[in-house]
Amino acid sequence: MPVCRMCTQNYPNSQFVSGNGPRYQVCVRCAVENDMMAEGEETSLYSDELVKARSALFARRYRPWAFILAGWILFFSFGSGIELWSNLFLGALLIGTLATPVLHFMTSTKFQAELAALSP
Ligand SMILES: [Zn+2]
Repeated sequence: MPVCRMCTQNYPNSQFVSGNGPRYQVCVRCAVENDMMAEGEETSLYSDELVKARSALFARRYRPWAFILAGWILFFSFGSGIELWSNLFLGALLIGTLATPVLHFMTSTKFQAELAALSP
């Protein structure tokens, strides 16, 4: 991996701007910060809105797993001692545990598409 001339950090080749002179071996971030991007040139850096949208997307994708995990922890800690509610809770947990991997697998294509739309 080449070293950026300005910040002396290692990055993969895709993170470098191409060119000679002042743009030679300069990473995208330094090029943006030093106003070296050419007119209309796209960067591969994430903007603030993009970062927010991406983390919201990941949070939405993995939220059901967190709920299932929290549900089982609740059930095994003190949820199994309550007569009727424990059975209802266990039923809901079982349905959720069975449905979550299926839904996770079924929505993976949609997730990849949304992620690609949010990648510069
Ligand atoms: Zn740099």
